[in-house]
Amino acid sequence: MFSEDLLAWHDANARDLPWRDERDPYRIWVSEIMLQQTRAETVKAYYRAFLARFPTVQDLAHAPEDEVLKLWEGLGYYSRARNLQKAARMVAASPAGALPDTVEALEKLPGIGAYTAAAIASMAFGGRALAMDGNLIRVLARLFCEERPVDGGAVRRALRERGMALMSAERPGDFNQAMMGLGNLVCVPGRPDCARCPVRAYCGVAGLPLAAELPNLPPKPDKRLERRAVVLVYWQGRVLARRRAASGLLAGLWEFPNFLDARSPEEVVACLAELGVRASFARRERASRHVFTHLIWQMSGFALAGGPLTRSDESLRYVDADELSRLAMPAAMRAFRELAEEALAPRGEGLS
Ligand code: SF4
Repeated sequence: MFSEDLLAWHDANARDLPWRDERDPYRIWVSEIMLQQTRAETVKAYYRAFLARFPTVQDLAHAPEDEVLKLWEGLGYYSRARNLQKAARMVAASPAGALPDTVEALEKLPGIGAYTAAAIASMAFGGRALAMDGNLIRVLARLFCEERPVDGGAVRRALRERGMALMSAERPGDFNQAMMGLGNLVCVPGRPDCARCPVRAYCGVAGLPLAAELPNLPPKPDKRLERRAVVLVYWQGRVLARRRAASGLLAGLWEFPNFLDARSPEEVVACLAELGVRASFARRERASRHVFTHLIWQMSGFALAGGPLTRSDESLRYVDADELSRLAMPAAMRAFRELAEEALAPRGEGLS
């Protein structure tokens, strides 16, 4: 039987990950949110640190948002962390004080979509729900030799129905994990390793060239390129930091001020003046590039000598090395943060 062969392979080959065999709904939830868009190897250390600091949903609900974002620093897609905490507050305030156990109720919480709800319901509560992410869609499209584009609702529904028919009734959570493991280790994008596949006997494209061509995905849209000037403004042993708006890309995180399409020192000084910062150009710094899902930031660095802020703005302030180390900053700022840390170090080259 399909599920028996798959689960036998899973039991013998599953990777040793800290959330494997976990049954606590809160811990499964945290792992599933972290694993969205992020590789398991990267998630491991974040998962342990996060749960050491917030061992229960109540601990997370009552924590300051800045602390949650700081622990998420480097994982990216920060709206995941904000939604996780928002949902934790709803759960902590609910009469049960615990995560609900059905897909429908889980899906009502911020940041929990159909995939995550199915993963939590099956792994924590033994519910029969198929956790369909890109990985699973690829495996199912190959198993059932589905050549139609898989971005359509009808095709996905058909794949889900046929996948559900294969699902183990006794071990639905392990079945989902086994299918994910199969997609990560054997039925990989590009060339699947059909010779090693535990379910090749059930697969419509096993060993065929068509296996490498499935699933039929729509072409990805090109990423938009933005050129930004990132400014390190030093004054009295501190550097200027800015908090991003509460919604949108990298919402609520700290960064160094940066300006779209500013290219020259004069343009940078003029942009800073608009923020209420008097500064004079000192030197160019290294360039850096960061790739988001739909966007690329091509960043050039500028160092400037600053002065007092000419108007009050809660989202803009000079910070010393110690404060800088506590601010949650996106990975896009990493190269500039290193420069600022060097400059603010006791023997650094801060400008004033
Ligand atoms: Fe994927 Fe090949 Fe296994 Fe089919 S036989 S599920 S294509 S690895």
